Amino acid sequence: MTADSNDATARVWRAEAVRRIEADYNRSADTHLIRLDLPRHPGIKLYLKDESSHPTGSLKHRLARSLFLYALCNAWIGPDTCVIEASSGSTAVSEAYFARMLGLRFIAVVPAATAAPKLDAIRFHGGEIHAVDDPRTVYDVAHHLARETGGHYIDQFTYAERATDWRGNNNIAESIFAQMSAEEYPVPTWVVCGAGTGGTSATIGRYISYQRHATRLCVADPVHSVFHRHFADRTAVSLPEGYASCIEGIGRPRVEPSFIPSVIDRMIAVDDDASIGAMRALSHRLGRRVGGSTGTNLVACAQLIDEMSAQGEHGSIVTILCDGGERYGCTYYDNDWLSARQVNWQPPELRMRTLLSAD
Ligand SMILES: *Cc1c(COP(=O)(O)O)cnc(C)c1O
Repeated sequence: MTADSNDATARVWRAEAVRRIEADYNRSADTHLIRLDLPRHPGIKLYLKDESSHPTGSLKHRLARSLFLYALCNAWIGPDTCVIEASSGSTAVSEAYFARMLGLRFIAVVPAATAAPKLDAIRFHGGEIHAVDDPRTVYDVAHHLARETGGHYIDQFTYAERATDWRGNNNIAESIFAQMSAEEYPVPTWVVCGAGTGGTSATIGRYISYQRHATRLCVADPVHSVFHRHFADRTAVSLPEGYASCIEGIGRPRVEPSFIPSVIDRMIAVDDDASIGAMRALSHRLGRRVGGSTGTNLVACAQLIDEMSAQGEHGSIVTILCDGGERYGCTYYDNDWLSARQVNWQPPELRMRTLLSAD
């Protein structure tokens, strides 16, 4: 940003940019909290916070809004700033949406292997694609592009935890607790989420402390992710080469700066077979497709439900339906794709169908 980022013209532009984001928000309804009755566990209620219903289809809609507001109010973005992100996924789709709203150029730095439907979604919202051969270089390339264009690298992995106002401003936690208020067990025993940037878990964990709730926060993490290793042993900061999970949006090979382990009460490691099986079973129960990380969350919920049941505990568990299944038609919902990767999803799907069975 130049030294004149606070002159009169810049202020006027910034005020208009913030107004547009707030006006868009005013026109939007909150996402649903879906209640699933579990006839096998009458004393335990399971809820899904359905983040697929945002205009850009995932929980990254909230993050992108927060990141843009944060960057705007820091005067990091002006009328001619090219906005750049390192993301092959939902974050870039949602950021492209907000960049277009503000009339800004947006470039997503993505690994060359990124699936076509995702690139199409980024382009659909007006974003440009900059593909790199080596996925590990996306951060450096994003920095470099920002320098070259005089742009701003918005950097979700660094800023997710601080861009979201964890005390309120309709963050996901405030929304969940408000929507739970008339339920049988309004204060959940557990909230379960995943971690990609770590922003969602940081927001929920801080909000629980701030509101002095008894709720505990559980993070469901792919087996091939560093986060649960780091949670157990803070000296573990990266994974050995070659470890990778196929669950998009969650699980990382390095501990991201926005991942805040101290606000988490427990982590459960989930293998990809179980995640995909749970995802399929939930899609069957809901009559529509959900994404893989929702399956990962559900597996952790099932474990907590078993434990609560064994203890004779009653209460509620809330988890997150992070995105829908539209972008995964040629991956998680393609049996050949799964078989080629030796994903053995059928036995866990059957087990999860039994838990979710409505009768
Ligand atoms: C980003 C993402 C998550 C994890 O959310 P964070 O707040 O980044 O930790 C989970 N599921 C999906 C589909 C995501 O895109």
